[in-house]
Amino acid sequence: SSGIHNLEPLETTISDMERFKDSAKFELNCPNCSHLFPFGGIIASNFYKMCYNGVQCKNCDHVFNMIQFTSQLESVIRSHISLYYAGWLYCDDSTCRNVTRQISVFGKRCLNDGCTGVMQFKYTDKQLYNQLLYFNSLFDMEKNKKQLLKPLYYEGDIDYPSEQLAESAILALTEQNRKLFEISQGVIDKYLDNCGRRYVDMGAIFDFMMN
Ligand SMILES: [Zn+2]
Ligand SMILES: [Zn+2]
Repeated sequence: SSGIHNLEPLETTISDMERFKDSAKFELNCPNCSHLFPFGGIIASNFYKMCYNGVQCKNCDHVFNMIQFTSQLESVIRSHISLYYAGWLYCDDSTCRNVTRQISVFGKRCLNDGCTGVMQFKYTDKQLYNQLLYFNSLFDMEKNKKQLLKPLYYEGDIDYPSEQLAESAILALTEQNRKLFEISQGVIDKYLDNCGRRYVDMGAIFDFMMN
């Protein structure tokens, strides 16, 4: 057998499984049959398969063209950025957990009667940055070839795929989809650059990535 079960121990300090454990999945919507399913790179899935020219919906056999794929990617990124800007806050007192929208005149103190908690951003700049790094990882040629991606499914999950991909198929499909992956990473990089420059304290990222 092959696939994720035969991986050698990771050399890196932290695996994508751990680094992106809280990242939201990239959900694709089939333009032909409207099925919604998570995309996790070149992996086994009951809902899609990679073919030589892109992502194919297993429900209706439609193959996403380049624009159908990258426009959905861009739309998902924008929805995360909107969520970040929406500025939801939550109270850090576990007995309170007051959630509120950021208002123009805002103190960090929780406004619930008698609560001494401090309001924290629900979607932090670090989470957003990490979310974009997760999307970026899905189109990383090396990570796909070595199957170092964060798994979408674990054994026992209801959607755990019944058939795994052969290593040779993974290698071939990665090369065949090089253009799709490069263009997708280009889409993400545009936002990653902005995010990195404008919103994120690099020291904090470094600390976050290394812990
Ligand atoms: Zn479909
Ligand atoms: Zn509170």
